[in-house]
Amino acid sequence: MNTAVSTAPAGNLAAPSFDVERARADFPILSRSVHGKPLAFLDSGASAQKPRQVIDAISRCYEAEYANIHRGVYELSARATEAYEGARVRVQQFVNARSASEIVFTKGATEAINLVAASWGGTFLGEGDEVVLSVLEHHANIVPWQLLRERTGIVLKVVPTDETGAFPLDACEALVGPRTKLVALTHVSNVLGTVVPVAEVVRIAHAHDALVLIDGAQGIVHQPVDVQALDVDFYCFSGHKLYGPSGIGVLYGREALLRAMPPWQGGGDMIERVTFERTTFAPPPARFEAGTPPIAAAAGLHAALDYVASLDAAAVAAHEHDLLAYASERLGALNSIRLYGTAPEKAAIVSFTMDDVHPHDIGTILDRAGVAVRVGHHCAQPLMDHFDIAGTVRASFGLYNTRADIDRLIDGLDEVREIFA
Ligand code: PMP
Repeated sequence: MNTAVSTAPAGNLAAPSFDVERARADFPILSRSVHGKPLAFLDSGASAQKPRQVIDAISRCYEAEYANIHRGVYELSARATEAYEGARVRVQQFVNARSASEIVFTKGATEAINLVAASWGGTFLGEGDEVVLSVLEHHANIVPWQLLRERTGIVLKVVPTDETGAFPLDACEALVGPRTKLVALTHVSNVLGTVVPVAEVVRIAHAHDALVLIDGAQGIVHQPVDVQALDVDFYCFSGHKLYGPSGIGVLYGREALLRAMPPWQGGGDMIERVTFERTTFAPPPARFEAGTPPIAAAAGLHAALDYVASLDAAAVAAHEHDLLAYASERLGALNSIRLYGTAPEKAAIVSFTMDDVHPHDIGTILDRAGVAVRVGHHCAQPLMDHFDIAGTVRASFGLYNTRADIDRLIDGLDEVREIFA
């Protein structure tokens, strides 16, 4: 199912049927106030808030089932190991991977991309091999490839965008050629919300025997992901943006690829046999999980995936669509606002600037009004350069946001205008 949303005017839209108030009640933090005002949290793109179910799962882990995993012969360690490996199976089901051994736990999307660049890139790429990125990328999907370029002499090609922030498939196709070894793209732009047509990109890349890595840090939050249907080679995401805890993320990789990749970090848990002369390594995924992993975070991630899966995905998507359309309409009606990212396929993220007011000033004034937004370059400086700006104000929506949150944003912007008039 493609739940990408568009920016159609919201004026005539009926509010969707998703029971957002019921969902909000699951998120304790949403009932707190900030500077004496109720919290309007519009920064889920940076990190989402956590439902009670996730918080409880983490507490339960520490209260009742905590021990280091693997190798422990005692009951608690066996239970903790079971829970950790159970979380892996939950991720496998969530993204529809063929096998749980295709799921590597990492610290987050950033570490997952670094893992692929260091291990796969460091082994299979050499001087003149090409990696295709796009101008929409987060620094997490730029810098690891630049580090690899320094080591190996690979060439980075960059898919451009236009004034709407759309992803031009034809330009991507034109950049993929006989030397392309990897196309590494974000699923959804964290600044603009642009949805990249992953299945089409995969067809183009695979026709040239190139692999595809998708940075799903934002993508998996706004639409169900099926790695087999998308036919991607690598897909990664962070738990904390998907209503789960920070400190854990996922790298999905095709089994044959992971098996061919060497370790990138050494230590406990990733070996088969160690002697001072020679060490052999465990098969994937353990090969890529050196050291004590995020045990409690895995329990939290498991609960987060259960939580998301318990909701009606189509209803949540319609709800987020409504928020995006409503925010786009209300912001678009303000004279002094310039919206960035108006591509037809968009997820629930809006970025804007206001004439003659620095984004940081806007963010500070909104904060006093209890409205949390992110301001700055959003770890996407090449995209800022494309628009010739230093930064934007970004409101990114989670399933718990409401039209009332957007009204609070608009009221806050009215205040900003009065102050700077
Ligand atoms: N990619 C994108 C598109 C992101 O939005 C982010 C987080 N802002 C990341 C990668 C990095 O995620 P993390 O910091 O959780 O590793």
